[in-house]
Amino acid sequence: MAPANAPGVSDARQVDALIVGAGFSGMYMLHKLRALGISAQVVEAGTGVGGTWYWNRYPGARVDIQSLEYSFGFDAELEREWRWSERYAPQPELLSYANHVADRFDLKRDIQFNTRITAAHWNEDARRWDVTSENGDTWAARYLILATGCLSIPTDVTFPGIGDFKGPIYRTSRWPREGVDFTGQRVGIVGTGSSAIQSIPIIAEQAAHLTVFQRTPNYSMPAHNGEIPASDFEAWAKDPRAYRAASKDTVGGFQNEPGEKLATETSPEDIRADLERRWAVGGFRILGAYVDQAIDPAANKIVHEFIAGKIREQVNDPAIAALLTPKDHPFGTKRPCVDTGYYKTFNRDNVELIDLRADPIATFNADGIATEKRQHDFDAIVLATGFDAMTGAIDRIDLRGIGGVKIKDHWAEGPRTYLGLMVAGFPNMFTITGPGSPSVLTNMINSIEQHVEWVADCLASLAERQHPSIEASAEAEAAWELQVAMAVTPSLMPQANSWYMGANVPGKPRMFMPYAGGLNTYTEICRQVAAKGYEGFIIRQGDRMLSESREFTSQPPLPDIPPSLMPIILERLAAAGLMPAA
Ligand code: NAP
Repeated sequence: MAPANAPGVSDARQVDALIVGAGFSGMYMLHKLRALGISAQVVEAGTGVGGTWYWNRYPGARVDIQSLEYSFGFDAELEREWRWSERYAPQPELLSYANHVADRFDLKRDIQFNTRITAAHWNEDARRWDVTSENGDTWAARYLILATGCLSIPTDVTFPGIGDFKGPIYRTSRWPREGVDFTGQRVGIVGTGSSAIQSIPIIAEQAAHLTVFQRTPNYSMPAHNGEIPASDFEAWAKDPRAYRAASKDTVGGFQNEPGEKLATETSPEDIRADLERRWAVGGFRILGAYVDQAIDPAANKIVHEFIAGKIREQVNDPAIAALLTPKDHPFGTKRPCVDTGYYKTFNRDNVELIDLRADPIATFNADGIATEKRQHDFDAIVLATGFDAMTGAIDRIDLRGIGGVKIKDHWAEGPRTYLGLMVAGFPNMFTITGPGSPSVLTNMINSIEQHVEWVADCLASLAERQHPSIEASAEAEAAWELQVAMAVTPSLMPQANSWYMGANVPGKPRMFMPYAGGLNTYTEICRQVAAKGYEGFIIRQGDRMLSESREFTSQPPLPDIPPSLMPIILERLAAAGLMPAA
């Protein structure tokens, strides 16, 4: 069935692969497919490449993984010729990098900008995707590749009276290209996630007064940003290939010095020294300090107390420090923030923190925001209120698979995929860093490279066989859903009301969406699946079945778990119904 507004097939542009999105995923996918002689077209809603770094231009936006690791490794020349200016590159530099990649590989000639895909329907007779854009363009594509990003659609957050405010309202994720000058203004910002935590110190420096509306405090670690330390640069420059390989062979897709001890069995003095050292390195270095901190609440509390102490050290007013200290979720169960001067910003005379738990927003009005207790007048308001993560960009497309089944219906109880790469009933449709893959729990660029290369290898192998169709089996999809649940359930992560769980979007099914087993483990699973002739996938040429290995049997290497943690893990798996109680 063609999309309702699709013109006749003859009007549709024929292409082997239609790639949606010109962020790092879409660009690299295009580059790989070209090399394979597979014709590909990228369509992008924005007017330029860069995805996240195209849209998120708010002041202070920068990457939270060190730039030496947050850059493409697929081309040695590209790696050698690009020099990052800072440990954590700022958004303008990341956008320049995206444009450099696009120009270097002459990608823009196959990218159609200003084009938002609205519908994609699987045409069972022709075994292809009929795709339509908002402008009425149509494509007939053998493969549909959704490189739509994990955090690309802002939540539909709204407040009573929001239309009455007479000043401008800016969203961090849709920041004006020309920038915003807040000099001399009274500014209100809603939200205290990463986007707010990065922008608040800069806005506070400019504005006459800044009011921060916080509902839930988050953990933030110092970036200690600056020049790339000579030792880091030398470690990379000695052998960029080996450096990259070492990054990819980790749980998070970046080198982070995972600890080997249990916090509960280490002396307080040793813990203090170790955490101080990690805090001084900055960024995510404290995330994996102890093997038990992500599983055992007692261990997590030890790390929490250390960070709470660091917040108290930085914030002069103990009452404000207490408000800024997370209480409702264990450390590491939401992606922590990496900041430059966030906590100290609350020592400024022109910055005020409003605790929305004690004094909720009642309404927006012409002059600003009224909380239940008082009126706050503003010249401008910033919404740093987050994203409909992982599924938002996909389920906003009228996407229909075999029999016209809508992706929204298939995902009514949460996004089900096989390996985060394909969806049962949606043949020839791939998701890059889709739900069910490690994606947002990792260094995105390494995850993107792994996915794009896996998909490219898969399409090359199909091309050798005259392009049969490929589809995830329902059995493999169900088996992978179980793997995703098994990977996260032993940890504390499901306890947080995080966007990983879909908890920030009212009505969104509550399900932990990314695969928490680690990028290294996941990569090995994907390798095994392909090596077994794409197990769990149905490959057919018209009615002729070429391969129908429906089961998923690949076994991830077993994690090395200290025996003392096993009772907690088994108890949680049993409570989740994932294994029988002992
Ligand atoms: P976020 O972490 O989801 O934070 C949204 C904030 O808005 C939260 O503080 C939330 O409070 C608040 N909020 C939402 N709706 C609200 C409402 N109706 N009333 C009051 N407060 C409301 O979003 P984000 O800061 O954009 O970050 C999302 C993710 O993007 C990050 O976790 C990270 O992965 C990525 N990111 C990365 C970087 C980087 O360093 N490279 C920078 C920015 C973003 P509640 O928590 O109470 O819901």
